Amino acid sequence: FMIIQQLPDHIVNQIAAGEVVDRPSSVVKELVENSLDAGATQIEIDIQDAGKSLIRVKDNGAGMVSDDLIMALNRHATSKLNTNNLFDIQFLGFRGEALPSIASVSRFTIQSKHKNEPHAWQIDVEQGTKSEPKPCALRDGTIIEVRDLFYLTPARLKFLKSDHSEMLAIRDMIERLALANPNATFLVTHNGRQTIQFRALTDGNHKSRIESIMGKNFITNALNIAGDNQNITLHGWVSAPTDHVGTSQDQYLFVNGRSVRDKLLLGALKGAYGDTVPHGRYPQAVLFLNLPPEQIDVNVHPAKAEVRFQDSNIVRSMIVTTIRHALLGENIGVRAQVGTNFLSRFSSGWGQKNYSAQNLGLSESTQASFDHESIQPSARQYDEIGNQSGAEKFPLGSARTQIHENYIVAQTEQGMVIIDQHAAHERLVYESFKRNFLSQKIESQGLLTPDIIELNDEDIFLLMEYKPIFDQSGFVIESFGTGAIIIRSIPLLLAGRIDTKRLITEIVDDVKQDVATTRVEDSMNRILSTMACHGSVRSGRRLTLDEMNALLRHMEAEPLSGQCNHGRPTYVTLSLKEIEKLFERR
Ligand code: ADP
Ligand code: MG
Repeated sequence: FMIIQQLPDHIVNQIAAGEVVDRPSSVVKELVENSLDAGATQIEIDIQDAGKSLIRVKDNGAGMVSDDLIMALNRHATSKLNTNNLFDIQFLGFRGEALPSIASVSRFTIQSKHKNEPHAWQIDVEQGTKSEPKPCALRDGTIIEVRDLFYLTPARLKFLKSDHSEMLAIRDMIERLALANPNATFLVTHNGRQTIQFRALTDGNHKSRIESIMGKNFITNALNIAGDNQNITLHGWVSAPTDHVGTSQDQYLFVNGRSVRDKLLLGALKGAYGDTVPHGRYPQAVLFLNLPPEQIDVNVHPAKAEVRFQDSNIVRSMIVTTIRHALLGENIGVRAQVGTNFLSRFSSGWGQKNYSAQNLGLSESTQASFDHESIQPSARQYDEIGNQSGAEKFPLGSARTQIHENYIVAQTEQGMVIIDQHAAHERLVYESFKRNFLSQKIESQGLLTPDIIELNDEDIFLLMEYKPIFDQSGFVIESFGTGAIIIRSIPLLLAGRIDTKRLITEIVDDVKQDVATTRVEDSMNRILSTMACHGSVRSGRRLTLDEMNALLRHMEAEPLSGQCNHGRPTYVTLSLKEIEKLFERR
C-alpha cells in the first residue's frame, strides 16, 4: 500500500522552473548568462510576442561537444563548478538547472558547434522528452530556441503580463547584462524589428555603454566613484543628489560582474545619500563591486539576484563612505536642470565647491560665534567678517537685495548668486537639528500653556513609538486621556515659529507612510526634516541686508547647504562671463 512516489524528473524540472524562470525575461537572463560564460562576444536575441511565442539566443561562444549537449539538459549538470570548493565561482551560473528547467516548460531546441567536432549537433525537447543528438548546420557557437513558453503550465501562463510589460522586463534584463559586459555586442529584435543594438566596445570602456543605456545626461553629470578596502573594490557612477528620479529602476548593481538587486547593497546606496534625496525619490547609480569569490555566496537565490557577503559590514560601509565622499567632494560641475537655454546657464548650488569654514579664512572663534539657532547676525560676527563690500570675497558673495520676498540676490567677485531663502534656511536648521540631536544637545522650551492635540488612538500609538526621538529633539509629548496628546515643551529652535498641531499631524503622516520599513535613523531624519521645514523662514518674509548676509555666511559654513532637505538646489550662480554672453558682449 505504498503511496509515496518519487516525482518523475520532468515534474521536478517543472517545479524548479517555477523558481528559476517565472517570466520570459528570466529565460533571456539565463540564456544570455550562459552565452557570456561560454566566452561569447556577439549575442543575438530574437523575440516574438514579448517572448511568449519565441525566445532565440544565438552566440559565438565556445559551443559544446555532443556528449556535453546531452549533459547540459540534465538537472544539476554544470561545467562551472569546482566541486572541491563550492565558493570559488568565476562564472555567472553554476546551479545547473536553467537549461533543463526551461526545456521542461517550453518547446526547446539547442544547436551547438564545438571546435573539436566536425559539425554541429542538435537536440530537441518536447513534452519533457529529449531527442537523440543529430547533426545540424551551424558554423560556430550555440543557438537555443525556446518556443511557446509555459504551454504545459497554463497557470503560469496566466500570470504573464501584457506584451508591453514583459518586453520592458526583457529590455531591462538585457540592459543590465549589457552594462556589465561592454565588450560584447547585443542585438535584439522583437517581432522582426531591431529594438536594441549595443555594439561591443573594444576598449572595454564602460562609459559609452552606460551612456547608451542611462543617457547622456546621466553620464555627463554623474560622479565617478572609486574605492577599495582590503580585497574589495568598488567603482561606478552615481547621480548628484539633485538629479533624483521617481523610481529605483535606474540603480544598477553588479557583484563580480553579476547583476543583482540585493537589499543590503540597495540599502547602502540609499544610506549613502541619506536625506540629501527627498523622500520617495531615488538617485541613479551604476556600481560595480568586486571581491574574492570565496567572500560571497551567490547560491542563496534561485535567480541569483541576491548574494550573501561574508562580511556585509565592510561592503556596506565601503559603499556608504565612497559615495558620501564623492557627494561631499569638490566641484561636481552639475548644471541646474532647468528648461530654457537662458536658465541652463545658471549652475545649481550643488555644482559649486562645498566650502568649509576653514577655507573661508574664518577663525575658529568666528565659526563658534555663528548663531545656528537663528539667522540674526551677531555684532561680533560682523566685526570679524568685515564690512559688506568685503563680503564679495565669500563664495556666496554680498547680499544686495531680496526679490519676490524669497530670493536673495548677491554679488560675488565672479558674478552673481540667487538664493532661495526658505530652502537654504530649512537646510541649515535641519543640519543644526541633526548635529544637536546626535550630541543630545537640542534645547527644549516649556510651553506656558501646553498644547492639547486631538488624534485618533492609532495615531497616538504610532507617535508614542517614536517617543525617544521626540524626547531627544526637545519635544515633551504625553498621551492625554484617550483621543488626545499633550505637548508640554518644544525645541527652543522652533519656539514661536511653529503651529504644533500642523507639525504633529504632518509627522504622523510621514511615519505612517513607511512604518514597516524605516530604520530608526531614517525616521529620525524625516522627523527632524519636517521640524526644520516648519521652523525655517518662510518665503514671503522680508529680510534685512544683515539678515541676508548672515544667512549666506551660515550656508558657506555648512557642507551640505547646496540643496534643501527635499534635494532641490538652494542657490544658483551666474558668472560675469555668462552674463556677458547672455548680452552678447563677446
Ligand atoms: P549552469 O549555467 O548553472 O551551469 P545551465 O543549465 O544554465 O547551468 O547550463 C548547463 C551547462 O550547459 C553549462 O554549465 C555549460 O557547460 C553548458 N552551456 C549552456 N549554455 C551554453 C552556451 N550558450 N554555450 C556553451 N555552453 C553552454
Ligand atoms: Mg546557466
